[in-house]
Parts: sequence; C-alpha cells; structure tokens
Amino acid sequence: MQSSILSFMSRKRKAPDEDEEEQRKKPEKRDRRAGYLEYEEEKRDRKFKKEWCQGREWLQHDDNHGMLCSDCKEYYAKYPDPKRENVSWTKGTKNYRLQSVKEHENSKMHLKAVGALRAQAAKPGETVAEKSVLKLKEDIAKKLVPMFRNVHALAKECRPMRDFLWLTKLDIAKGVKISESYQTTFSAKTFMTFIAKDVREKVAEHVQQAKFLAVTCDGATDVASMEQEGTCIRFCMKGQLFVKFAGVSAPLQADAPGILKCIIESLEGIGLTEDTLKSKLVGLGSDGASVMLGKNNGVASLLRKIQPALVSVHCMAHRTELSFRDATKNVGLYDKCITLLLGLYLFYKQSYRQRNLLKQCYETYAKKQMIPTRVGGTRWVGHTLKAINILLHGYDVIHAQLEDTLHQSGGTADMKNKARGYLRLMTSRDVLTFVLFLRDVLLPLNKLSLILQERYSTVADTFLSITSAQAVIKKYATR
Ligand SMILES: [Zn+2]
Repeated sequence: MQSSILSFMSRKRKAPDEDEEEQRKKPEKRDRRAGYLEYEEEKRDRKFKKEWCQGREWLQHDDNHGMLCSDCKEYYAKYPDPKRENVSWTKGTKNYRLQSVKEHENSKMHLKAVGALRAQAAKPGETVAEKSVLKLKEDIAKKLVPMFRNVHALAKECRPMRDFLWLTKLDIAKGVKISESYQTTFSAKTFMTFIAKDVREKVAEHVQQAKFLAVTCDGATDVASMEQEGTCIRFCMKGQLFVKFAGVSAPLQADAPGILKCIIESLEGIGLTEDTLKSKLVGLGSDGASVMLGKNNGVASLLRKIQPALVSVHCMAHRTELSFRDATKNVGLYDKCITLLLGLYLFYKQSYRQRNLLKQCYETYAKKQMIPTRVGGTRWVGHTLKAINILLHGYDVIHAQLEDTLHQSGGTADMKNKARGYLRLMTSRDVLTFVLFLRDVLLPLNKLSLILQERYSTVADTFLSITSAQAVIKKYATR
C-alpha cells in the first residue's frame, strides 16, 4: 500500500510547456492513422479459397454462412459448452483468411471436438483413453489376484481373517507385487464378500436348471457360541448328483419358524424364491430333532405348507449313530469298556509325565506311537472304533506303562489308583472279549456310516450298504 501511494505521489506531472513538445510528436501518430485509412481504401476483397480445404475435411463453405467447421458444429450441438463463447466456427464466419483457418485448426475448442468425435467412432478398446484405463485396471487386477487367492484359501481351510495379514507379508517377501492399501483384515472381508457373491451367482445359475431339489440342513455352534443353521441343496441333472452349499445364518430363536426363516434366507441367497420351492422342492434331510421333524410344528411340516408332497428324511448317518447308542444302552460290559477307553484317554491327556513315559515305552517296544483318543461325543461309531483300535494296537505298551506307574517313585496315590483300576479292566477277560466283539460290530457299522456320509451317495448305495452291514452283523449273532 505504502509503495503504491509513493508511486502515485511521485508520478510526473506535465509542465505546461511540455504540451508543445507533445504536439510535435503527434504527427507520427497522425501518419499511422493515415496509413490505416489508406489500407482500408486499398483493402483486398478477401475470398474463400478452395485449396484451404486440402487436408481439412472439416472445413465447409457456402456463400450464406461463410466458412464453418463441421466437426465443431456436430460436437457442440450434442455437448454445448457454456464457457465457449466463440460460436463463429459452428454457425459460420466470413473472416476469409488462411491465418484464421489455421488458428481454428489449432484451437482447444476444435481439438477437443475432433478428439471426442474420433473416440466415439473408434471400436471399443481402441481409443488411447480406453486402452490406458484397461491397462490401469489390468495392473490393479494383477496386484489383487494374490490377495483374492489368499482370502479364498482362508475360507476353504476355515482359517481366521487375521491370517490374511501374515499371508500377505509372506507373499511380499516372496516378491509378489501387492497393493499396500489392501493389507488389512477389513479388505480381506471385502474380498470375501465379493468371492461369496460370485460363487452364489454361479450356484444360482446352476440351480435354475434343476427340475427338482432337496434341502439338507443342520445346526451347529460357531466359535462365538452362536447357533448357526447351515443349508445345502441337493439336485440331480442328467443323471449326475450335485450338492451345493446354500448358506449359513443364525436363527433369532432355535424354534421351527426361526430355523425355517434361516433356511429360506439361505435359499433366497442362491436365487430360490418361495415360488421356486413350491414347484421344485421334493425333500428335506435333517437330524431327528423334534424341531426339524416334529409332526405338527417341525420345520418339515412348515415346509409342507409350501410344498405338500415334500418327503422328509432323517439323516441315515445320524440314525446309525443313534441305533448304536440305543443298542448299547444298559449293557454293563459296554459301560466298562467306555470307562476304560475314556479313562485311558484322560489319564494320558491330563498328565504330561505319563504321556511322555508312554511315548518312551512305545519306543522301547519299537511300535508306532498311538496315544489313546476320546470316545463318545457325537460320533459314537467312528470315535469308539478308533479308540478300540489304538487300545488293541498298543495293548502291551499301555499295559507295561500302567504297571510301571504303580512302582513309580513320586507318583501320586490318585494316579496309582487310576492305573490299578485301568489295569484291572484291561486284564479282565470279559472286558477284553467285549472290546474285541465291539470292534467286530463297529467295523461294518463304520463302513456303513462312511458310505452314508458320502456326499454323492444315492438311495441305491444307501440301501445296498445297509443290507450288507445287516447281513454281517446277523452272521455274528448266529456264530
Ligand atoms: Zn472445429
């Protein structure tokens, strides 16, 4: 401000005698004006020249409008540009000078119109812009591929999302190019959502072609102790069986309407609406819980309101387990057997020292190390057979180790008592005979159970395997 004030103050004022001097200078200006007038008088009558059109397909001329640019006319008619004030080349100009034509040819306005029209006329993927966008997308996709694969593997192997972080670090260490911004569990979840969406779409497409389908479902408790209902569908096309995972969802209440809602939700996820179910649903496979198969208010009876012809099947593998459990109920020797098997499992699980000693014992006997496993749980057949096989395999080793426990110095009295108890059971002729008998019964039952659990086993397979298992067991009864 101060400087501008100073400059204002110091401006040179004209002295009155300077006017005269100025007057002397003026003739020069007058001369220039005179020259202009002369020029106006002698001005060439400018005309459009056809040779200007050479190499300029856009340049058009007629006597009414003068020159105009066909490209600019076409482009700005479609995409008016409010900032563009110079409209002469879209409506016509009579400024017949080559310089003017050249100026327009190089103007931003013209270049923009020509570029846009050329891009519009080009085939998809051929314009420079499109090519560079595709290249960019390709580069991003390349960096995303390893991460999508990792997330897919995590889902397949039931691994937690946090594994994604170290897996990505491992990939980077191996030299795989990975975008840094995606190295979070949140991204992993996002990737997972997209993979799931893609898989669901494929399943939906596949299922649409099926004429009939059956639903199988079961509940389980997840790591957060939440009840989850998993649903699969089973259908047959051209003689080939397909089993597809439909979805998993948590019921608000574990009653039949709650579970049915979960099943319907999962089915809707793969494009099966209630109308589709009405025309295609033929079967329901589940466990025998009353909430599923209850006559009046089970899920099956609720589904029958949608499709009355529905056949509900109590899972055959479940039934095999249940019948085995029923058959062994109130059998004293069986209880003794389980006491022995479970006791040995806990004996070696709870004591590190005894487990270690058992391992050493196996080494001395030069036998493959097999530590007693748990019996019971939800798989009586499979787990009991496994525990029996281990007991029989390591019978002498376990026997020796238990005997050793009795004479160990420093062993607790409780430990010694337990060892004595198990030794008594192990050496009881009745118990041992029953263990061997159980093994004989469990072998065909386990085989049957595995066939029944086969994903693609059919009614025919089931029937055959049940018949043969029954035949084997009946033979034992007559021996
Ligand atoms: Zn133009």
